[in-house]
Amino acid sequence: MEQRSIVFLTGAGISAESGINTFRSAGGLWETYSIDEVCTPEAFRRNRKFVLEFYNKRRAELHDKLPNPAHRMIAALEKDYGSRIINITQNIDDLFEKAGCSAVMHLHGELTKARCEFCGHTWHIGYKAIYGDEQCPDCGNHKTRHHVVMFHEEAPLYWLLYATIDRLFATESMLVVIGTSGQVLPVELFARAAPVSILNNLDPEPAIDDRVFTHVFYEKAGVASARIDTLCREYLEL
Ligand SMILES: [Zn+2]
Repeated sequence: MEQRSIVFLTGAGISAESGINTFRSAGGLWETYSIDEVCTPEAFRRNRKFVLEFYNKRRAELHDKLPNPAHRMIAALEKDYGSRIINITQNIDDLFEKAGCSAVMHLHGELTKARCEFCGHTWHIGYKAIYGDEQCPDCGNHKTRHHVVMFHEEAPLYWLLYATIDRLFATESMLVVIGTSGQVLPVELFARAAPVSILNNLDPEPAIDDRVFTHVFYEKAGVASARIDTLCREYLEL
């Protein structure tokens, strides 16, 4: 029989405590910028420089941000249980990597990477600004963009997400959802598929029916992480 595993699915809420400016929360970036201005392919075609600058600022802001206990909890589980821990995030920050995670599935891309518009190659750029004419280390062309999935763009990793979620039906996997509003991904549907599931958000979200989850924590991720850690380890040791 296949060993039990845990699928973590995390969103902006897990990084909010680390001071990452979130897009959807009150007082978030959308109050300063409009989505149509900075986060769509149309905007990027219209004003490439402005959109690249927007992401340059977000990338620079990331430099001094630190992971919180929730990121570190998942990193410690990965260290102890390896590939039995599946870490899927909607976040584009690098706090999981800073916490020591090595296998993170970033559904919406990564701020610390650039992408070649010719060949699709991605590469690590750290916290540096890009201006769109950097040379691709793979194909040599000079048309570079941020490696972030914008609104109305396809998220190429979604197929992998759904394949992973399908495995929840087939194997005994626990689902842990942290810090997501349920507006982007149907987390409730995923929870129904999992034999055991945990939901941790700051507050109840209208898009999530929490009755489908086995355990529900409405508090900061950094606070809930100790109990989530215990539940995960108990589940993996069964
Ligand atoms: Zn290229």
